[in-house]
Amino acid sequence: MNCESCGAPVSRLGRAGRYHCDYCASQLVATPLRDSIDGLVLTGTSTETACLTCSDENLELGSLDAYPIEGCRKCQGVLLQRSAFAQLVSERRAEYVGPDRAGEFDPALDGPRDHHSRLTCPNCQTLMDSFFYAGPGRVAIDSCCRCESVWLDCGEISRIAEAPGRR
Ligand SMILES: [Zn+2]
Ligand SMILES: [Zn+2]
Ligand SMILES: [Zn+2]
Repeated sequence: MNCESCGAPVSRLGRAGRYHCDYCASQLVATPLRDSIDGLVLTGTSTETACLTCSDENLELGSLDAYPIEGCRKCQGVLLQRSAFAQLVSERRAEYVGPDRAGEFDPALDGPRDHHSRLTCPNCQTLMDSFFYAGPGRVAIDSCCRCESVWLDCGEISRIAEAPGRR
Protein backbone atom coordinates (compact mmCIF):
# COMPACT_ATOMS: atom_id res chain seq x y z
CA MET A 1 0.00 0.00 0.00
CA ASN A 2 1.20 3.49 -0.77
CA CYS A 3 0.56 6.81 0.94
CA GLU A 4 -2.61 8.33 -0.48
CA SER A 5 -1.04 11.75 -0.29
CA CYS A 6 2.44 11.31 -1.84
CA GLY A 7 2.52 7.70 -3.10
CA ALA A 8 5.44 6.59 -0.89
CA PRO A 9 5.30 3.03 0.45
CA VAL A 10 3.63 2.67 3.83
CA SER A 11 5.59 0.49 6.22
CA ARG A 12 3.22 0.03 9.13
CA LEU A 13 -0.47 0.37 9.94
CA GLY A 14 -1.49 1.38 13.45
CA ARG A 15 -4.82 1.04 15.18
CA ALA A 16 -7.92 1.32 13.00
CA GLY A 17 -5.83 1.33 9.82
CA ARG A 18 -4.19 4.66 10.66
CA TYR A 19 -0.78 5.31 9.27
CA HIS A 20 1.86 7.97 9.37
CA CYS A 21 3.79 8.61 6.19
CA ASP A 22 7.53 8.90 6.82
CA TYR A 23 7.98 10.84 3.59
CA CYS A 24 5.33 13.55 3.64
CA ALA A 25 4.35 13.28 7.34
CA SER A 26 0.66 12.84 6.48
CA GLN A 27 -1.59 11.16 9.03
CA LEU A 28 -4.16 9.14 7.10
CA VAL A 29 -6.46 6.17 7.38
CA ALA A 30 -5.98 3.28 4.99
CA THR A 31 -8.95 2.15 2.90
CA PRO A 32 -10.01 -1.50 3.10
CA LEU A 33 -9.37 -3.86 0.20
CA ARG A 34 -11.96 -3.13 -2.43
CA ASP A 35 -13.41 -6.64 -2.55
CA SER A 36 -12.99 -7.63 1.11
CA ILE A 37 -16.10 -8.96 2.83
CA ASP A 38 -14.51 -8.42 6.21
CA GLY A 39 -13.16 -4.89 5.73
CA LEU A 40 -9.60 -6.17 5.70
CA VAL A 41 -6.89 -3.51 5.33
CA LEU A 42 -3.46 -4.58 4.04
CA THR A 43 -0.31 -2.51 3.60
CA GLY A 44 1.44 -4.42 0.85
CA THR A 45 4.35 -4.85 3.29
CA SER A 46 5.10 -8.57 3.39
CA THR A 47 5.99 -10.36 6.57
CA GLU A 48 8.28 -13.40 6.74
CA THR A 49 5.22 -15.54 7.45
CA ALA A 50 3.82 -17.75 4.69
CA CYS A 51 0.03 -17.79 4.50
CA LEU A 52 -1.29 -20.70 6.54
CA THR A 53 -3.52 -21.89 3.72
CA CYS A 54 -1.91 -20.62 0.48
CA SER A 55 1.66 -21.88 0.55
CA ASP A 56 2.80 -19.54 -2.22
CA GLU A 57 1.79 -16.25 -0.61
CA ASN A 58 3.24 -14.36 2.36
CA LEU A 59 1.08 -12.54 4.88
CA GLU A 60 1.10 -8.74 4.88
CA LEU A 61 0.89 -6.31 7.77
CA GLY A 62 -2.57 -4.88 8.10
CA SER A 63 -5.55 -4.28 10.31
CA LEU A 64 -9.14 -5.24 10.98
CA ASP A 65 -10.93 -2.31 12.57
CA ALA A 66 -8.78 -1.24 15.53
CA TYR A 67 -6.60 -4.33 15.60
CA PRO A 68 -3.27 -5.05 13.95
CA ILE A 69 -3.32 -8.33 12.05
CA GLU A 70 -1.36 -10.20 9.41
CA GLY A 71 -3.45 -11.02 6.39
CA CYS A 72 -3.25 -12.78 3.03
CA ARG A 73 -4.08 -10.75 -0.07
CA LYS A 74 -4.90 -13.89 -2.01
CA CYS A 75 -7.28 -15.80 0.29
CA GLN A 76 -7.96 -12.90 2.71
CA GLY A 77 -7.33 -15.12 5.73
CA VAL A 78 -6.23 -13.30 8.88
CA LEU A 79 -3.86 -14.12 11.74
CA LEU A 80 -4.49 -12.26 14.99
CA GLN A 81 -4.23 -12.60 18.75
CA ARG A 82 -7.07 -14.28 20.62
CA SER A 83 -7.67 -11.20 22.79
CA ALA A 84 -8.04 -9.02 19.68
CA PHE A 85 -10.36 -11.60 18.11
CA ALA A 86 -12.62 -11.56 21.20
CA GLN A 87 -12.84 -7.77 21.18
CA LEU A 88 -13.40 -7.67 17.44
CA VAL A 89 -16.29 -10.13 17.79
CA SER A 90 -18.03 -8.12 20.48
CA GLU A 91 -17.56 -4.81 18.65
CA ARG A 92 -18.62 -6.16 15.26
CA ARG A 93 -21.73 -7.74 16.78
CA ALA A 94 -22.65 -4.58 18.65
CA GLU A 95 -22.21 -2.44 15.53
CA TYR A 96 -23.96 -4.71 13.03
CA VAL A 97 -27.33 -3.28 12.01
CA GLY A 98 -28.40 -5.54 9.13
CA PRO A 99 -30.72 -8.56 9.28
CA ASP A 100 -29.66 -11.65 11.25
CA ARG A 101 -28.15 -14.14 8.86
CA ALA A 102 -27.44 -17.75 9.67
CA GLY A 103 -25.49 -18.22 6.43
CA GLU A 104 -24.94 -21.31 4.38
CA PHE A 105 -23.04 -24.09 6.04
CA ASP A 106 -21.26 -26.86 4.19
CA PRO A 107 -19.57 -29.25 6.64
CA ALA A 108 -17.02 -30.30 4.03
CA LEU A 109 -15.91 -26.75 3.39
CA ASP A 110 -16.72 -24.92 6.59
CA GLY A 111 -16.31 -27.50 9.35
CA PRO A 112 -13.23 -27.99 11.53
CA ARG A 113 -10.18 -29.42 9.78
CA ASP A 114 -9.45 -33.11 10.23
CA HIS A 115 -6.28 -34.37 11.90
CA HIS A 116 -4.34 -34.50 8.67
CA SER A 117 -5.01 -30.95 7.58
CA ARG A 118 -4.48 -29.05 10.83
CA LEU A 119 -2.53 -25.83 10.40
CA THR A 120 0.87 -25.14 11.92
CA CYS A 121 1.14 -21.96 13.96
CA PRO A 122 3.67 -19.70 12.21
CA ASN A 123 4.69 -18.06 15.49
CA CYS A 124 5.57 -21.12 17.56
CA GLN A 125 5.32 -24.07 15.13
CA THR A 126 2.67 -25.81 17.26
CA LEU A 127 -0.15 -27.68 15.50
CA MET A 128 -3.23 -25.51 15.78
CA ASP A 129 -6.54 -26.80 17.12
CA SER A 130 -9.50 -26.60 14.75
CA PHE A 131 -12.92 -26.38 16.35
CA PHE A 132 -16.30 -24.67 16.22
CA TYR A 133 -16.16 -21.19 17.68
CA ALA A 134 -18.23 -21.25 20.88
CA GLY A 135 -20.02 -17.95 20.18
CA PRO A 136 -22.64 -17.07 17.55
CA GLY A 137 -22.43 -18.24 13.95
CA ARG A 138 -21.51 -21.70 12.85
CA VAL A 139 -17.83 -21.03 12.25
CA ALA A 140 -14.81 -23.28 12.62
CA ILE A 141 -11.67 -21.45 13.70
CA ASP A 142 -8.06 -22.48 14.11
CA SER A 143 -6.32 -21.53 17.29
CA CYS A 144 -2.87 -22.06 18.83
CA CYS A 145 -3.09 -23.11 22.48
CA ARG A 146 0.51 -22.11 23.07
CA CYS A 147 0.81 -18.51 21.81
CA GLU A 148 -2.92 -17.75 21.47
CA SER A 149 -2.85 -16.91 17.78
CA VAL A 150 -6.09 -17.36 15.88
CA TRP A 151 -6.49 -17.95 12.15
CA LEU A 152 -9.71 -16.78 10.50
CA ASP A 153 -10.64 -17.65 6.96
CA CYS A 154 -12.19 -15.00 4.73
CA GLY A 155 -15.73 -14.09 5.78
CA GLU A 156 -15.68 -15.77 9.18
CA ILE A 157 -15.66 -12.58 11.23
CA SER A 158 -18.60 -11.26 9.18
CA ARG A 159 -20.49 -14.51 9.59
CA ILE A 160 -20.06 -14.25 13.38
CA ALA A 161 -21.16 -10.60 13.36
CA GLU A 162 -24.32 -11.31 11.34
CA ALA A 163 -25.40 -14.49 13.15
CA PRO A 164 -28.58 -14.42 15.26
CA GLY A 165 -28.19 -14.13 19.02
CA ARG A 166 -27.55 -11.60 21.75
CA ARG A 167 -25.69 -8.44 20.64
ZN1 LIG B 1 3.08 10.52 2.06
ZN1 LIG C 1 -3.76 -17.09 1.76
ZN1 LIG D 1 1.48 -20.46 18.33
